[in-house]
Amino acid sequence: MVDNGDFQDYYLRRIGVSTPVPVGAAVFAPDSSNHDAADISVHEGAAAQVYSPACVSSSATPADLQQLRAAALSCTDCALSESRTQVVFGIGSEQPDVLFIGEAPGEQEDKIGEPFVGKAGKLLDQMLAALNWSRDNVYIMNVVKCRPSGNRNPNEKEVEACSRWFDAQWQVLQPKLVCLLGKVAAQRVLGSDASLASLRGRWHEYRGVPVWVTYHPAYLLRSPTQKARAWLDFRVLAERSRAIQGGIEAGG
Ligand code: SF4
Repeated sequence: MVDNGDFQDYYLRRIGVSTPVPVGAAVFAPDSSNHDAADISVHEGAAAQVYSPACVSSSATPADLQQLRAAALSCTDCALSESRTQVVFGIGSEQPDVLFIGEAPGEQEDKIGEPFVGKAGKLLDQMLAALNWSRDNVYIMNVVKCRPSGNRNPNEKEVEACSRWFDAQWQVLQPKLVCLLGKVAAQRVLGSDASLASLRGRWHEYRGVPVWVTYHPAYLLRSPTQKARAWLDFRVLAERSRAIQGGIEAGG
């Protein structure tokens, strides 16, 4: 898996990372000195203001993602339903190694109906592939399921309205490890207004699940010099995933 240097080198070249990446536990190089990679921040209370568990009753939670998706496709719970082409629900394994969460669908996602497509999605796929992950063993979704027009950020009302689907997906997926892609997703889920630089580089916890924050792939396309840092983030995730799957962590 990640010990295969040739395999990783191939994919690193494809995503544009030429910087040698150290192998081992100390793979994180923070981009800000005001945080500690070993810190764990608990945001459960703050996040609960954004995603109220009361939004989803257990009796209303469908048994699997297909049923849930079918129900979500006709949702008109907020104004985004008026301008969307289609609901972009999510894709991947029902028992994901990692749950990746972005903010909202963009133009391409709205057309195709799948999260993280186009150039940003291709970059994400390449980074996943470099760690032997794919859309078959992770799950990818957004905080908000319909595209805000003009690619603006979703507002609080829209996030709150869509929390019923977020919560229901969470209940079905029962994630063991979460990665938040970009500042908007990180702020929404963690209930924080902190910068991405301060949220990145340390473990958070949401609903008892370890959460890592990294750059949105679209940002990496605009700022390719950050790809090496994003790659380090993915290495941190991979190591934590292996620890969880190996039963090293309690309850893993
Ligand atoms: S964004 Fe969410 S709540 Fe709003 S219409 Fe789409 S699925 Fe429903």
